[in-house]
Amino acid sequence: MKKLIAVLLVVVMIAGILAGCGAKKSGGTLTMGTNAEFPPYEYYEGDKIVGIDAEIAAAIADKLGMELKIEDMAFDAIIPAITSGKIDMGMAGMTVTDERKQSVDFSDSYATGVQAVIVAENSAITSVDDLSAGGLTIGVQSSTTGDLYMTWDLEDPGLATVQRYNKGADAVQALVTGKVDCVVIDNEPAKAFVEANPGLKILPTAYTEEDYAIAFAKGNTELQTKVNEALKELIADGTVAKIIDKYIGG
Ligand code: GLN
Repeated sequence: MKKLIAVLLVVVMIAGILAGCGAKKSGGTLTMGTNAEFPPYEYYEGDKIVGIDAEIAAAIADKLGMELKIEDMAFDAIIPAITSGKIDMGMAGMTVTDERKQSVDFSDSYATGVQAVIVAENSAITSVDDLSAGGLTIGVQSSTTGDLYMTWDLEDPGLATVQRYNKGADAVQALVTGKVDCVVIDNEPAKAFVEANPGLKILPTAYTEEDYAIAFAKGNTELQTKVNEALKELIADGTVAKIIDKYIGG
């Protein structure tokens, strides 16, 4: 009996070791920081983070033989988490800007976005030019490019007031309840939020066009180069387009 138990124990141990090896990828862990409040790029489906960025990151990790780990955090916590080494890269529908380039390095761009304006269906705001008419309160997601442009272009010169929210969805709720006159946010989340909230629409003219890219710690050229190579292959073989199509549609 004792012998049988000993044999069983060994079998269980070997199985455990094998299972462990199977799960662990040889290239180590690739930790990505994101803000999973940004559909269709990253959002929760149950307790799993899904979306365009999550899938492209998984394909990159796969190519590099690494295990992808996604950490959800506030959007404005992503760059500090990169610079402090808490995460390896940030992927969050993040726009490449000169200001951000002071603190992080970016990959090649893998998608584009535009800053869209969401208004109530019966709003007097009919074009982007109306935003500077004076006296408007504009809702944005804190620290995003929507926030930066509205602050620089409209709030600083005294043309409008900017209300900052932690989540895009909270800014949209403020619009629904009439606390703000419009919301400036990336067009794909804008579409998802408008779909989820009857009575809203997106203005036909967008505020600006931007490039999304993955952010790394300054000087981490090793990872930046590897990711760029993987990204290039995934763009060339149509994987990236397929993932974007799956979530956005052609
Ligand atoms: N593209 C915008 C930015 O980089 C918003 C990104 C986001 O909210 N996840 O600021």
